[in-house]
Amino acid sequence: MTTTLSLFPTTYESSRERFRGNLPAVHKMWSKAALHQHTLSFDNSLTIDWIYSEATEKNEKILVFTTGEHGVECYVGSTMMQRFIEDYMPRIDPRTTGILLVHAINPWGMKNHRRGNKDNIDLNRTFMLDPQFDPTFNPAYDKIDAFLNPKGTLTNTIINNIAYLFGLGWNIARIGMRGFRDALLLGQYRNSQGLYYGGVEIPEETRTIMDLYKLALRDYDQVLHLDMHTGYGPRYQMSLVNSSLDKGTSEYFEKRFNYPLVVAATADEFYAIRGDMIDYIYALQQRDFPAKRLYATSFEFGTLGDTLYGLFQSPRVMIHENRAHWHGAVNKKVHAQAKQGFEGLFNPSAQDWKQKAVKDAEQAFDGILKAEGYIS
Ligand SMILES: [Zn+2]
Repeated sequence: MTTTLSLFPTTYESSRERFRGNLPAVHKMWSKAALHQHTLSFDNSLTIDWIYSEATEKNEKILVFTTGEHGVECYVGSTMMQRFIEDYMPRIDPRTTGILLVHAINPWGMKNHRRGNKDNIDLNRTFMLDPQFDPTFNPAYDKIDAFLNPKGTLTNTIINNIAYLFGLGWNIARIGMRGFRDALLLGQYRNSQGLYYGGVEIPEETRTIMDLYKLALRDYDQVLHLDMHTGYGPRYQMSLVNSSLDKGTSEYFEKRFNYPLVVAATADEFYAIRGDMIDYIYALQQRDFPAKRLYATSFEFGTLGDTLYGLFQSPRVMIHENRAHWHGAVNKKVHAQAKQGFEGLFNPSAQDWKQKAVKDAEQAFDGILKAEGYIS
């Protein structure tokens, strides 16, 4: 068994290499398993990789495991997938269960330690059954656009932090805490350099994943989908974030999975957004495959915490990093501080955090895989 800390990859390339190296282990269980790739159209060194196999006897159910929709979050996501492959996958029955493991939905973002893709697109605002990349969507974003996406070089960190706090206070006073949060997170389709930008059409990364979802729902009676994210929720307790399209309550799933923290992605418990990937697979199932059984969820590994401090810090970190990306920083030190804060939000280095994150993932794997009938 790999030790917990050594599971965390340090580069996109080494993570991908390790992922590809799992093929023989998967092959031992599923003799038809194969490695597939989508090479990004603008850079043939960047690939979305997946290992897929049908069940060896009868396609009853499939396990779908996805990582890195938000590129920088794939360092943690890849860790959890590796743990799954080593310790949980061997307990699955390949005769009746297919497997689909996806490494780095957003490889450019992983390689470059950004959340969005090369075009600054947050892929989790692009998964729409009925694609509407409407530039007028979320008009309230305009009210906070100048605050979120300041133009000009990132200068002194302390002054920027103070300016941020005043700006935040002013904006919350104007449109309320709830109004601010909704406008921020809902997604927007007009400022291509702004936070939570969803683009103008379905990106190639998104299209690749959509095709895999269709295959899974078409060929299997039951689909279990686990997706990995970081940044949201309490620092030392991973949250399972369910789609608002799943009718089960959070309390129901906490009992069912014997897992202490489940929330639903509604405006009350989490936040409402357009183009969410988990909502997409539910909408697809409900529209085109109503007879199929589906459970899909996101593992959200919290980092800055869910106290007021944490809630206020995440936008700050994202604003500074995005500004430094587009407009540069006054010197290397300020640029490094912006990147460092960003890593702390999506790819923490603290050892105690890493240990607890893996432990939480194990507890969730155990609870979900048992309850859904994938392991006994
Ligand atoms: Zn994420």
